[in-house]
Parts: sequence; structure tokens; C-alpha cells
Amino acid sequence: MLGLDKTGWIEKPRPTCGPLDAIVRPLALAPCTSDIHTVWEGAIGDRHNLVLGHEGVGEVVEVGDMVKVFKPGDRVIMPAITPDWGSLEAQSGYSVHSGGMLGGWKFSNSKDGVFAEFIHINEADANLALLPDGIEPETGAMLSDMVPTGLHGSELAGVKYGDDVCVIGIGPVGLMAVRGAVLRGAANLFAVGTRPNCVQVARSFGATDIISYKEGPLHDQILDRTNGKGVDRVIIAGGDNDTFDTAIRMLKPGGAIGNINYLGSGDYIKIPREAWGVGMGHKTIHGGLMPGGRLRMEKLAQLVLTGRVDPSQLITHRFEGLEHVEDAVMLMKDKPADLIKPVVSIRY
Ligand code: NDP
Ligand code: ZN
Repeated sequence: MLGLDKTGWIEKPRPTCGPLDAIVRPLALAPCTSDIHTVWEGAIGDRHNLVLGHEGVGEVVEVGDMVKVFKPGDRVIMPAITPDWGSLEAQSGYSVHSGGMLGGWKFSNSKDGVFAEFIHINEADANLALLPDGIEPETGAMLSDMVPTGLHGSELAGVKYGDDVCVIGIGPVGLMAVRGAVLRGAANLFAVGTRPNCVQVARSFGATDIISYKEGPLHDQILDRTNGKGVDRVIIAGGDNDTFDTAIRMLKPGGAIGNINYLGSGDYIKIPREAWGVGMGHKTIHGGLMPGGRLRMEKLAQLVLTGRVDPSQLITHRFEGLEHVEDAVMLMKDKPADLIKPVVSIRY
């Protein structure tokens, strides 16, 4: 990101490795819709000469003196979120907010991201995860952000056995939210989106109904299909600030919304007063950035290894060579109808 609305290539010095850190070279990289919000919506303000990217698998080329778990040659998942684990926020259970709100989101935000020849990883033992043999790097790259974010959506919404769930948005993030909700016991699962590839994968991940936001208000469509009762949980993984309005309207009293959407513009979210039980409806909203951490990332990799989650179904476009990262970013920006997720492989 050279500045707002502008991407290109720049030379930077190779990052240096502190005692707890690692330096990694990329094997597979993927752009995120968040990179698009950052550059073309200015969602986190202006940034100059910031290396984009926070999704990828790589090979460790250097580790600091105090790193115990990893060594050069290891293939590793680089999580999008790389917190400071000694911070008070991490100790209170909110690693992602280490050092201040969203402070654990460093790549392509407060420091250079992963679209580079060499990538700096802070607190390598806590933040990296070994990529198990049996998961190809391209699929592993989906474990940086898409899998943990989508599954976190189902945690934020608190999905329980037998819950009726609506997942608004079935891009790669929402698709993983569909899978997460199914694994946590969803009964009827309404998936909202229109791109045919996404619809097909949503069904294969366990969606029972597909709903188009282009065919009338979502809450009316959900209320029609649930005898006017609504759903127990809503996971928001697409749409905009107005999506909270429709989500509140389709939610049962006592229900919860889990938001993982990155709201790129506007100042306020409107909550419909009456549908919110005039403030007393026990309808809660949880919004969260995915937590990182080696333990969680290794467990998610086990879900892939055991076949419970198949993120390879998200990959629709493949490129070879670091120089094609820009093409992948532009695809993510333009969102052609057949796109779910592009990935770039790098061979040495
Ligand atoms: P996509 O753009 O691929 O998917 C968005 C989905 O929302 C699509 O299914 C789209 O439908 C649907 N949609 C668009 N407009 C509406 C609307 N008005 N009402 C309802 N649904 C709508 O995005 P991604 O899956 O890549 O990412 C989703 C969001 O998650 C992004 O904002 C991204 O930045 C954010 N994110 C958050 C992270 C976190 O940790 N919290 C991490 C990573 C990403 P259609 O099929 O028609 O295109
Ligand atoms: Zn992301």
C-alpha cells in the first residue's frame, strides 16, 4: 500500500530477528477482503509504504536465541493476528487487544505484512504454528485468517446444539462461519449470499437454506421461513452497517449476534429500538477479531487434518510466483462472480 487507493512494489531492508522472533519466507500467500477495506476504503486511516497481507504459510529461515519450538526449515502457518502475549490484555483473555484495541493485528496494520520476501514474526513460539504434513501450503494459508475468523464467528454468536442460525455473507469468511456453526450443532442454517460458487460450498459445508439479500429484506425472508419466530443466532460476515438492523429484527429474544465483518465506513450503527425489545430483549451483539495463538492454530489445523473442515474448497484461483500477489489482490478487489479465494504459491 503506497497510500490510499494505491498499491505497488517497493524495496525494504530485510527485517531483523530479535531474540524471541523468527524470520520466514513465504510458500503460499492469500489476499484478504480486509486488505481491500484498508487500501480502497481507508478503513484504518492512511498508511504509506505499508506491506500488505496477513495470510500465508512459510518456511522459517532464522530464529532468535530464545526461540525453543521452531527452527530453520520448519513449515509454519503465519496467523493474521500476532499478539504480545505478556500484555495485560492477553492475560485477561483478549490477546487480540494486546497493547490497545485491535493491537494484536499487526501485519498490514501497524507493521509490514506478509506480501514480502522475508517476514518478521514477533514472539514466534507463541504466534506461529507448525503446518502438519498432509496439509498443502495453499490450504494452510486459509488457516491464517479465514478458518479462525469464520469459526470465531460461531463462538461469538454462541451457537448451541439445535439452534437455528443465519449466516449473513458467504464469502470465504462466512463460509467458514457456516462450517463452524454446523460443527457446534446448528439445526436449520440459513446462509445469505448469491455468488454461485459460494452457494455451492455453503451447501457442502452444511447450510440447509440459501437466501438472497437481493430478493427483499432479509429479516422478512427469515421470519417467513421460521413461522415468524426468527433465529437463535446470527453471524454477520458480510453486508454493511445497516446489516445490524436486519440481524436484530430476525433474532429471537435471548439470541445473539456474532459479528466478524470489518466495517469499512460510516460512523454509527443503528439498532432498531422496538425489535431490540425496547432495550430489554436480551438480544446481545458480540463483535470480535479472531484470536491468534499457537494452541488455537494447531487445533484448527487438526480440524483440517481430520477432515472436519475443508478450507481447500475456498480456493478458486491459483497463481505461481510472488510477483502475482498484485493480481490476486486485484481479483479480491474486483470480486468476479466465480471468486471465493485466490492463492499465490511461491517455489524456490
Ligand atoms: P466477501 O466480500 O467475499 O463476502 C461478503 C459476503 O457478503 C458475500 O456473500 C456477499 O454476497 C454478502 N453481501 C454483500 N452485500 C450484502 C448485503 N447488503 N447483505 C447481506 N449480504 C451481503 O468477503 P469475505 O468473506 O472475504 O470477508 C467478509 C468480511 O470479513 C470482510 O469485511 C472482511 O474484511 C472481514 N474479515 C474480518 C476478520 C476478523 O477477524 N474479524 C478477518 C478477515 C476478514 P454475494 O454472494 O452476493 O457476493
Ligand atoms: Zn484478513
